[in-house]
Amino acid sequence: MDANGPHDDTAFPTPAPVAPPAWHTLGVPWRYAFQPRTAATLMVAASRRGFWISFGLCLLAIPCVLVWLFLWADMVTVDWSASPAATTSAPWTPSVVERSAAEVWRDWHTYGWLGWAEWTAIGVVLGALATVAFMAWLHLGTVHESGPAGPSYRRAFRAVASVSGLVVLATLVFGSIIVALDNAEDRLRGTDRTVSFDEIGPLLAVGIIATICLLPAWIGRAVRDVRQGLTPPPLPPRCEGCGYDLTHVAADGRCTECGLDVASSLTPDLRRPGCPWEDEPDPLAWLRTSYAVIVSPATFYGRLRLRTPERPALHFSLWHYAVLGIVGAVFMFFFMMAVDGAGDSELVCLLVCAFLFAAPAVGWITHRFIGAVATSWWLTHAMLPDVRWARKVIAYETAYLWIFGLYNMALFILGALTDGRFAPESVRTLCRNVFGMRPEEVLFCGNSLLCFFWLWRYRTAIRAIRWSNF
Ligand SMILES: [Zn+2]
Repeated sequence: MDANGPHDDTAFPTPAPVAPPAWHTLGVPWRYAFQPRTAATLMVAASRRGFWISFGLCLLAIPCVLVWLFLWADMVTVDWSASPAATTSAPWTPSVVERSAAEVWRDWHTYGWLGWAEWTAIGVVLGALATVAFMAWLHLGTVHESGPAGPSYRRAFRAVASVSGLVVLATLVFGSIIVALDNAEDRLRGTDRTVSFDEIGPLLAVGIIATICLLPAWIGRAVRDVRQGLTPPPLPPRCEGCGYDLTHVAADGRCTECGLDVASSLTPDLRRPGCPWEDEPDPLAWLRTSYAVIVSPATFYGRLRLRTPERPALHFSLWHYAVLGIVGAVFMFFFMMAVDGAGDSELVCLLVCAFLFAAPAVGWITHRFIGAVATSWWLTHAMLPDVRWARKVIAYETAYLWIFGLYNMALFILGALTDGRFAPESVRTLCRNVFGMRPEEVLFCGNSLLCFFWLWRYRTAIRAIRWSNF
């Protein structure tokens, strides 16, 4: 009989979902490398053994690919010492040295069997494991619904691990292009012909930066589909002031604990009229909502409805990331024009493209990290009746990223304004005179302080939403 087939719910208890056999999960991260949601769902459904074999193969593949790339790169090298063909007029004529893979491997292991390749492999595997564990923690709030957080963390871990196939493929593709170009360049260096791959270089750099920065979005897609589908238990009406259960208190009475009148807690339009963005999602409402979030979080979250669908909040957040990328790129363009006068157009292009992806990516990591700290605190202290509310708060908090953006842009401009061009020495002097610190200290301390304020904002937010009835 098919265990997953139709059955009579009244006659038999619902069977636990049967994990597919281990071999079935084997190639999932590769086969569905470009379908993150399918890969994540299959990896979450896999048996423990199936998951670890499949993920373990990906973990081993990453150092194998890297070691192979380094091996390949070392197969063609340039010897800059005097070659037999050298003359007194050109004593440093480079000569190309070509070795087979076996020869390179032997040279790597001159001092024993545990060469740097093995150490790299161990380091990469540990690093990859730590990264997956960290990313899973960042997404705990996205996956968790109710009950203990442990199973949700395991689901998040598996979903993040399902993206490893794509990471291996991207490393292989970009690494092969880089090594092939490098080797071709080395081979031509031995001849009279001079050749340079400078045109491809910046393009490749932008491709790599874009891939690294889009990876979080990819993981986000994978993770969002692996929720268990549990609905939290229905919540009784609460006093907005102290959380007292108002089930048995008269509608026109007062809370017996804190004296707040019941109508003010239970009248939706009075207590929580919502926010402009959720009423009418247009650019003006987006700006007004963002302003309200940044300037007065207590008021904003005090008026926000928490039991409405999450989608508008997610769109609010996505728009912030998109605008952040565009503003970052435009800022970089004008900044480079002002300080450099487009002296190096390739560099300007590279920086503008990099900022288009890097500004949202750095913002994303900061945003999710602070959000995960807050969510972990709320979960371990059982401070929120429904985790979905935390997701809403985190989504609306994206607006606060603009404070980081403005601060860092101001530092850039400050540096440029000191004498009309970007001179590290003048920035150093300015920072010492104004803050009594070095530039990197100003950068670090300022951003750390903003992170601390952010945690404080989450504290404000939870106080405003904790006993929400709407
Ligand atoms: Zn009360």
